Amino acid sequence: MISREEINKVVSKYDKKKLTIATICSHSALQIFHGAKMEGFRTLGICTPDRRELYESYPLASPDSLLEVENYKEVLEPEFQEKLLKQNVIMVPHGSFVEYVGASNIHEKFSVPMFGNRESLGWESSRKKVREWIKKSSVKVPREFRHPSEIETVCIVKFSGAKGGRGFFLTSSEKDYEKKMKMKLDEGVITKTESENATIQEFINGVRYYPHYFYSPLMKGRDGNGRIEMLSIDRRMESNVEEIYRVMAAGTLQELNINPSYVVTGNAPITIRESLLPEVLNIGKRVRESSVSLFGGIVGPYCVEMVCTPELELYAFEISARIVAGTNLYPLGSFLSAYMFKEPMSTGRRIGREINIGIKEKKLDLLIY
Ligand code: AMP
Repeated sequence: MISREEINKVVSKYDKKKLTIATICSHSALQIFHGAKMEGFRTLGICTPDRRELYESYPLASPDSLLEVENYKEVLEPEFQEKLLKQNVIMVPHGSFVEYVGASNIHEKFSVPMFGNRESLGWESSRKKVREWIKKSSVKVPREFRHPSEIETVCIVKFSGAKGGRGFFLTSSEKDYEKKMKMKLDEGVITKTESENATIQEFINGVRYYPHYFYSPLMKGRDGNGRIEMLSIDRRMESNVEEIYRVMAAGTLQELNINPSYVVTGNAPITIRESLLPEVLNIGKRVRESSVSLFGGIVGPYCVEMVCTPELELYAFEISARIVAGTNLYPLGSFLSAYMFKEPMSTGRRIGREINIGIKEKKLDLLIY
């Protein structure tokens, strides 16, 4: 395991005037580069050959240099890491980085300094741990059923890993569960191990909100040191469930034998009733507070995925403990960040800004691991 001390040692040797912000070219990379450039940093992208064109096409968001790899796991090779360390790289982790490289690989083999607390990545990658985290934060969670025979309401069946909803299905009885699970296995959508470890969770019917928080240990908040900022909110667009009503002119979903699918394909902006914002902010605070005792505390961006019911109750079903792709909607800030910063402030830029404050106050060790 790469220790905090080890990373601190590396950072202490970095030339702070020549730091490079780097990430893998996917997920929220354009936003991260754009924001880092606005904050005056050199930027470096790690990309596969097929992505080069896109990442060279946006002058204000293209990284200053690109390092090509065939497979993102190459970032774990010692020679590759050496190249990053030579350029004083601070890596910004995002969902694709965690998915392609693996949370445990990052923890055990990646000795390049990263923005935030890398411990959080191990937590967000495990549904069991996320549930423990949400419960500890006194936030409502959907009920879970250990065995299909216990199903007594509409449930969503989920599989492990950050797969963007692939294979998930809805069910309301044991019989239907067995039928659909067999279908998923036969189609090769999921493996046997995945089916054995499936999560059967109560489906909360309502509107989904994905608020984007940022915890700064360097800013003073209302309760003393450290500030939770709620920078923006999005809603994920998942195919085909998002527009499934369009086929319903032809019959019911059952008649048509169409199952909703929850694969993430994009994001849409959304806002929530102002009267609900205090609770949304409070949830962000409680999630940060409980993270301190669980793994030393989340630092930087995170998101609590929630559903708002007709009774205006908020249920959380997932936490992303790093920048989420929904923040890509707001490269110049959002309807919330505009009330906090005079200048356009995306989450990507906010990361760069925090690093700049850390350099100035000689407190980078609080931001990097
Ligand atoms: P997840 O992998 O947990 O983020 O779930 C992927 C998608 O499935 C979410 O973005 C939601 O659209 C949907 N979803 C997951 N859990 C629930 C739930 N308990 N109730 C309603 N929708 C859910």
